Amino acid sequence: MKEQQPLGISFHERHIVHPGASVDLGKVDAGDKAGLKKNDQVEEEMDRLRAELDDLQERFYAWDKRSLLIVLQAMDTGGKDGTIEAVMHGVNPQGVNVTSFKTPTAEELAHDFLWRVHKAAPARRMIGIFNRSHYEDVLVVRVHNLVPEEVWRQRYDQINHFERLLTDCGTVILKFYLHISKDEQAKRLQERLDDPKKHWKFAAGDLKERELWDDYTAAYQEALARCSTEGAPWYVIPANHNWYRNLAVTSIIVEALKKLNPVYPPLDPSIGKIVIS
Ligand code: AMP
Ligand code: MG
Repeated sequence: MKEQQPLGISFHERHIVHPGASVDLGKVDAGDKAGLKKNDQVEEEMDRLRAELDDLQERFYAWDKRSLLIVLQAMDTGGKDGTIEAVMHGVNPQGVNVTSFKTPTAEELAHDFLWRVHKAAPARRMIGIFNRSHYEDVLVVRVHNLVPEEVWRQRYDQINHFERLLTDCGTVILKFYLHISKDEQAKRLQERLDDPKKHWKFAAGDLKERELWDDYTAAYQEALARCSTEGAPWYVIPANHNWYRNLAVTSIIVEALKKLNPVYPPLDPSIGKIVIS
């Protein structure tokens, strides 16, 4: 993915977690804008990328050869919902499936942790978006000791094997960690308390999770480092600025789809020349 980018930036190169590399989130500026300003040029590029994504998704659906899985993870208020809305805006909803993973049900807990996740994996030709994912099983589960350490410790390998199965069977996987600062989270939680349109998003439990910020950071760092692989890379997206987050995520998805070069299937040659009268 080295081709020239219109803004002169490869968001893929800038934000990928190279397989095997360690991750120190304290060293990643959540307010990074790659030197860009939210000006007309950036807005035009975002519009162009959206139109390109719309076209690529249509071809991807018609092509019917692969599936695309997009995993979104973030601290509370990190912008998962906003990213889905902004990035998929304009894409044909028939080709997209969003799954939001909540606290597992009794039935889900009675199975292995990947059972509910595998069921939600996108079928061929579909784009599947995970709003939270199997990574919760090495994040919230680890931070709150919901299972013994020897159980969650095995999960990094189990996740890598699972994702390898999906990629071997034709799924392209892109994983985004939306990285906000603790100060930005305070601002966003306050907005949820102050803005009547955001009250519904406020969960008192989020304040308790905020106290565990450092534990979550440690859990994220290990998950990002151990589970960023060639076939299923993690990207750490600076997400204090929504416009930058949306631009970076859309650009990376568009580049990945372009690389696949999905094409419209030709007319079946046995059909021959027909003129409908
Ligand atoms: P929200 O995304 O704000 O609707 O919240 C969903 C909640 O479900 C979060 O508090 C997650 O931590 C929780 N959750 C998601 N997956 C799991 C899991 N595997 N184990 C425990 N809690 C989970
Ligand atoms: Mg929430």
